[in-house]
Amino acid sequence: MAKKIAVLGATGTLGKLALEVIRKNDDKFKATVLTANKNVELVAKQAKEFKPEVVCLTGVKENSEIKAMFEKGTTLLFGEDSLREVCEKSLCDMAFIAVVGICGLPALVRCIQNDISIALANKESFVCGGKVIRSMIDKNKANVIPVDSELSAIFQCLCSKYDTKDLKRIILTASGGPFRTFKKARIYNATVSEALNHPNWSMGKKITVDSATMMNKGLEVMETRWLFNVEPEKIEVIIHPQSIIHSMVEYINASVMAQMSATSMTLPIQYAFSYPDRLGAQVESLDFKKLGSLSFEAPDFNRFPSIKLAYDALDAGTAACVALNAANEVAVEMFLQGKIPLGKIYELTNESTEKFAAKTCDSIEDISYIDSLARKFIENTYGSNTLKNYRF
Ligand code: MG
Repeated sequence: MAKKIAVLGATGTLGKLALEVIRKNDDKFKATVLTANKNVELVAKQAKEFKPEVVCLTGVKENSEIKAMFEKGTTLLFGEDSLREVCEKSLCDMAFIAVVGICGLPALVRCIQNDISIALANKESFVCGGKVIRSMIDKNKANVIPVDSELSAIFQCLCSKYDTKDLKRIILTASGGPFRTFKKARIYNATVSEALNHPNWSMGKKITVDSATMMNKGLEVMETRWLFNVEPEKIEVIIHPQSIIHSMVEYINASVMAQMSATSMTLPIQYAFSYPDRLGAQVESLDFKKLGSLSFEAPDFNRFPSIKLAYDALDAGTAACVALNAANEVAVEMFLQGKIPLGKIYELTNESTEKFAAKTCDSIEDISYIDSLARKFIENTYGSNTLKNYRF
């Protein structure tokens, strides 16, 4: 019987790729739930093809015009809460969580509680969930398969297990983004179109800006720390501009394993869906004769201080990580709206991290509270209109 998959974030870059994987393997997978934020037209088109049981529209209000775009048999749910409401055993065996931002956390929590396998592409939920999510996963023995290319690489280098007994260190690779060779002042004043012009990967806007500031790598350090439950000292970042090695692990006997492939997110998505099996490739094989050489550089924390900030936040605790993420989400939105220069994103996240680091953060409720405090802080100080509150 086909595995029932809820695609949370179906109209985004990864959601569309996930539906391609499902389309090409329709004997193995079925999309039973599709969710979208505001892109009603695309999700209606997807629903026509995939015939899900439920469609969620998290960012639009219920109205008859929208209802008329979907077939009678499809249940329509509206609002942010619907994301977690669909994480039910009766609807799906696996949830592909590909929504952007902390709004993925409530859905992740519900999947853990309801024993639904998780293909996780939402990095913010681990960044903020930290220790709280780690212990929920351990307690419920939840099945989480990473989709982020670096984390999928680490998982594969660990022989697709979470056994880190003989691990010496994890080496997270980073492309360096579009500003790898830029001077500091040039990075500070970079334009939106420069920031969105990633050399290797085609991704959504939020993660592309995060790649330009290298906050993306900082978030991945935090995600790696809690997904694999390894101390931050054992996580190292290395710049690898070709993005062929997606990350590496070194064992205590100094043996290093690397996962390599073409830069396509289809591979980690398909592997998360078919795990522990592997299915035939939908991406091209690497041609090493054409590749020539692979190169590596140390990351520059002076030009890209976001990576260092992520390590500091991990040291400071969960509250700091939540405050960092919230401020970054708001600041990236402000940058995309042309309200602040790129360099200001780091300043705002740094300020927010320091301000809230000492708060207690031991529960999902605490995470939600600090998230809203940090958003309000940026909102009040910088007059953004991107304030959102997520209910848990
Ligand atoms: Mg990544």
